[in-house]
Amino acid sequence: MNQYENFCCFCEDGRFHFNMKAGLPGYESLVFRDENVFAMPDIAPFVEGHYLIVSEVHLFSFGEANAIILNSHEKARKHLVNSNVLDTKRILTLEHGSTSKGSGVCIDHAHTHVLPVPNEVSVSIIDEFIVHRTGSKKVRVSRECIYNDIEEKKPYVYYELDGESCMYPIYALTSQFTRNLLAHVLGSTEYRWGEMYKHEKYQNYFRRSMSIEKLLFV
Ligand SMILES: [Zn+2]
Ligand SMILES: [Zn+2]
Repeated sequence: MNQYENFCCFCEDGRFHFNMKAGLPGYESLVFRDENVFAMPDIAPFVEGHYLIVSEVHLFSFGEANAIILNSHEKARKHLVNSNVLDTKRILTLEHGSTSKGSGVCIDHAHTHVLPVPNEVSVSIIDEFIVHRTGSKKVRVSRECIYNDIEEKKPYVYYELDGESCMYPIYALTSQFTRNLLAHVLGSTEYRWGEMYKHEKYQNYFRRSMSIEKLLFV
């Protein structure tokens, strides 16, 4: 077991628990791995090519990550962006960062969503949703600056799209905020991963997302 009392589905012991439950590949679904991060299809992908980059150790967010881990994160992200599954589409990078157990996110182990989005999904649509739901103000940042800001122990939503890189500090994130946001901008009526991963439609997205051209293990 890890040092955390409760089960974590991204820590060593629980890592592929839900994949097994759904009859989906576990370790074989990894499309990138080094000593700091690994990447795999989201267990309940909104679209084909919806991946997660996950920290190897239990961090609450990538805002807490050191430069070495962030470097691995960037390597994994580039690998996904350059993959055959994603290459012709616009890519959204999205993270809901937590700062402590139970500060709103449903899985408080650092993970970033990377997925292709259609042209209708603009920076302003994402901003509108976040501001409307949280009243937070946008801060233009790079990954390294999130690390600085997290010293104040604020959970946040961070995203990159169309060359924009920004975060919203948010004191209390509602559960599955990121999935709510993705469902809203992608026009999906479903958002809860605990329901979606059982459905064949999303399982097919998962399997097709595994067909990335080159697996990268470094
Ligand atoms: Zn964990
Ligand atoms: Zn998430």
